[in-house]
Amino acid sequence: MIHHELIVVGGGLAGLRAAVEARNAGIDVAILSQVWPGRSHSGAAQGGVNAALANHPESADDTWEKHAFDTVKGSDYLADQDAVAQMTKDAIPVIYQLDQWGCPFSRFDNGTIAQRPFGGAGYPRTCYGADKTGHYMLHTMVERAVKAEVPMYVEWFVTRLMVDEGVCRGVVAYDMIKGGFEAFTADAVIMATGGAGRTYSNSTNAIISTGYGMAMAYHAGVPLKDLEFVQFHPTGLLTTNILMTEGARGEGGYLLNGEGERFMQRYAPKAMELAPRDITSRSIQTEINEGRGIDGKGFVYLDLRHLGAEKILEKLPGIRDLAIHFEGVDPIEEPIPIVPSQHYSMGGIDTDMDGATDLAGFYAAGECACVSVHGGNRLGGNSLLETVVFGRRAGAAAAQHIRNSGPSPDMTVLAGRTVAAVEAQVGGLAARGAAGEDPYAVRAEMTTTMKDHFGVFRDAATMHAGLDKMLALKERVGNVGLRHTGGVLNLDMIRTVELEGMVDVALGIAAGALARTESRGSHSRTDYPDRDDTHWLKHTLAHYHPEGPRLGSKPVTLGMFEPQERKY
Ligand SMILES: Cc1cc2nc3c(=O)[nH]c(=O)nc-3n(C[C@H](O)[C@H](O)[C@H](O)COP(=O)(O)OP(=O)(O)OC[C@H]3O[C@@H](n4cnc5c(N)ncnc54)[C@H](O)[C@@H]3O)c2cc1C
Repeated sequence: MIHHELIVVGGGLAGLRAAVEARNAGIDVAILSQVWPGRSHSGAAQGGVNAALANHPESADDTWEKHAFDTVKGSDYLADQDAVAQMTKDAIPVIYQLDQWGCPFSRFDNGTIAQRPFGGAGYPRTCYGADKTGHYMLHTMVERAVKAEVPMYVEWFVTRLMVDEGVCRGVVAYDMIKGGFEAFTADAVIMATGGAGRTYSNSTNAIISTGYGMAMAYHAGVPLKDLEFVQFHPTGLLTTNILMTEGARGEGGYLLNGEGERFMQRYAPKAMELAPRDITSRSIQTEINEGRGIDGKGFVYLDLRHLGAEKILEKLPGIRDLAIHFEGVDPIEEPIPIVPSQHYSMGGIDTDMDGATDLAGFYAAGECACVSVHGGNRLGGNSLLETVVFGRRAGAAAAQHIRNSGPSPDMTVLAGRTVAAVEAQVGGLAARGAAGEDPYAVRAEMTTTMKDHFGVFRDAATMHAGLDKMLALKERVGNVGLRHTGGVLNLDMIRTVELEGMVDVALGIAAGALARTESRGSHSRTDYPDRDDTHWLKHTLAHYHPEGPRLGSKPVTLGMFEPQERKY
């Protein structure tokens, strides 16, 4: 049994930022991460991070209020406006702090942090480091955590929360290097495990972005909010769904259909390629569905050729590399074939602005959390921002909670009991062995069901059929068998254990999507094409139940901007 005052699960941007904040407040905090923190999915972020710095010549009168307006409008008015105001205000000092900590942002000639245009924003407001912004920010934060001497348990996979009488007391984790399960007791836990992209087969996300962190909270009784809002990024590579950043369009890239037409003029005549992602993805999908894909097939082109070699090599070198290596296309010479691809989980663990949840001592931040600042649709560049703004706040709030709570009780019995329960669960999987269901077959069916039935466009009949498939998969997941029973580096065990959680999160997405009889943001129903503020200007909450999610709701916090029609 290992004790720290605070355990942070996840070494991405949110987890690192939270840990550094708590450490600097004098808290004994440790990070547990299934990969070396510098390899977290945050490092794959390309395009940039938003803050109303007003450095760009065209954004001299930009303000945090304008950033807040764009965010709320982008969210299709589902974001909580107090949280959005907090984020857009904090954005400015938080970015300057990262700059002072050594994050190598790209610069304008006058030395200020460079900013580029991004989707759904009235101003060029997105700060960037070439097309490797997440990588730069992540490594800056790893350095800060090392400097603050935050202990990191790297290659530890957290399997379960330890909860006693309504209070979170730590986690149980699998030591991937040495084998075996260990209890980590704590006075508070922050979940920062990233998104649930891999519940879809067509995702831009890392293999480890499974949503299992959300599932652990869900199983411990914490509701998940707004799960049905799944962002499809307009431009994933055709064959692998690897992301081609929105920064490519921010730098002037075009979207072309099979007729060589910049079709966005029909859908967003003002914003064109820089309409928000929900609108751009739907426009691409409509072109494809109506037979105007390239050669009538299921993709369109992202064309960067007119930007010229110099600009592509300076501003988008990573995009060029990815296109060459994974699609066999050099964007200097040829247009890039792209399709809308699952990209971001707007929903997640229901938290307040300090990352606090309904479970005492349990916090969440980053993509696994839903504060909510993204509502029905996240603007590009607001997610990296969310990780550092709300990671910092969660770290501070957890530190305060620890200072306010009395001495920790003896957790030996609880720790022993929870480890035994995890060992029994894995023992059960191993006992079934190869005679049990193949977890990889179940996973593949789940991810294609989500892609085919809960995609860019949705309707009741397609979703009902998908929900039936998901409920059948839920049955099967109870019978999966563990093939490999070795103690050390047992990735088979990790993939098998997390599958049940993934199916539960996917079922939450499905149930929320069927229940929400309107179209808002990324949730676009052909049978309910209009936004319905009378009935649905509210968050959905999914509560875990062994037979499937139980849905409730929660009001949206307005205050700054009244809902309007969205035009771009
Ligand atoms: C390809 C791509 C490009 C993007 N580009 C941008 C962009 O330009 N701008 C922007 O604003 N946003 C972008 N995003 C979104 C943004 O990068 C993410 O939302 C954000 O980085 C998530 O950070 P996080 O800290 O919440 O999680 P992550 O960075 O995903 O980190 C999760 C951490 O949790 C750990 N973990 C997970 N489960 C467990 C477990 N069970 N036990 C132990 N550890 C666990 C992992 O090891 C990892 O350290 C992009 C996303 C992708 C996928």
